[in-house]
Amino acid sequence: MPEVHEVVIVGSGPAGLTAATYCARANLAPVIIEGIAAGGQLMLTTDVENYPGFPEGIMGPDLMSRFREQALRFGAQVITADADTVDLSTRPFRVVVDDKEYLAEAIIISTGASARMLGLEEEARLLGHGVSTCATCDGFFFRDHEIAVVGGGDSALEEALFLTKFASKVTLVHRRDELRASKIMQERALANPKLVFKWNAVVEALHGENKLEGATLRDTVTGETSELAVTGLFVAIGHTPNTSLFTGQLDLDDGGYIVTTPGSTATSIEGVFAAGDVQDHIFRQAVTAAGSGCMAAIETERWLEAERYAAAH
Ligand code: NAP
Repeated sequence: MPEVHEVVIVGSGPAGLTAATYCARANLAPVIIEGIAAGGQLMLTTDVENYPGFPEGIMGPDLMSRFREQALRFGAQVITADADTVDLSTRPFRVVVDDKEYLAEAIIISTGASARMLGLEEEARLLGHGVSTCATCDGFFFRDHEIAVVGGGDSALEEALFLTKFASKVTLVHRRDELRASKIMQERALANPKLVFKWNAVVEALHGENKLEGATLRDTVTGETSELAVTGLFVAIGHTPNTSLFTGQLDLDDGGYIVTTPGSTATSIEGVFAAGDVQDHIFRQAVTAAGSGCMAAIETERWLEAERYAAAH
């Protein structure tokens, strides 16, 4: 029988690594399955200027390497591989990684969410260099620039409206001539003089070597192409929570996010906690993810303690 760990953490963004630091300092000897793409969404960003404690700003990957170093300092064990399967139907819970089985009394899920991307070749190269998936994070860098937002849902309109505070002009590029967003958001967006709508349009190409210089749009009705001179392009076409490992095991909402008890990180299975973007489609910030990772660690510690007490009495 393999060793039973007190807690295994799956995912290593701000939520998972904060949970790891707190668990390690509570002597729970956490094992983190950090994944091949370790570090989460901040690994895909450049400057982070809104993480508290870094008044000069810090690069996303540097911030994550500090999170990791802090967890390691207190003895967290890191496995650099993806979890292949997670079985939450028996106790201890089982996580299989590269044919090796990790048993855990408690699990913290912090597998995050991935921003949906347009799928253009240049998109990955220009991410963090004009292309962004987070207006709250990057809007500030586009003061007086002309920029574009892609999407027609609530996120796209929310981001576009927020970006009008910085940019001189925001073009909303939507693939249809009708918005998916709620009526109130539509009314606000349509009334904003800095917001221009480009209907029936998709982004066909992005230009610029080291930073975005413009985009080619294609009209979905006529097929005609046109150029849009923008230095920023915010992709706001939705997020996909990374919950495929847990489908059918845990309660998920309609969007596939893990359902947690309000004010808590408890999931529908006792001893399984979820933190960060995998259970939050509203705030999606590193600092809120880290905060919920801390909550998950404290709740895990308390739950393990209660289990021990119950077993002893
Ligand atoms: P969403 O509602 O799924 O909207 C995604 C938008 O992106 C749609 O307009 C879609 O176009 C477009 N899109 C998808 N794939 C595309 C592609 N490959 N190329 C171009 N366009 C593409 O996602 P969301 O806006 O992130 O919202 C997710 C959920 O959170 C929704 O329930 C939303 O109401 C909620 N939310 C609420 C608020 C708020 O209330 N303040 C804020 C943000 C989000 P089509 O319309 O043609 O499908």
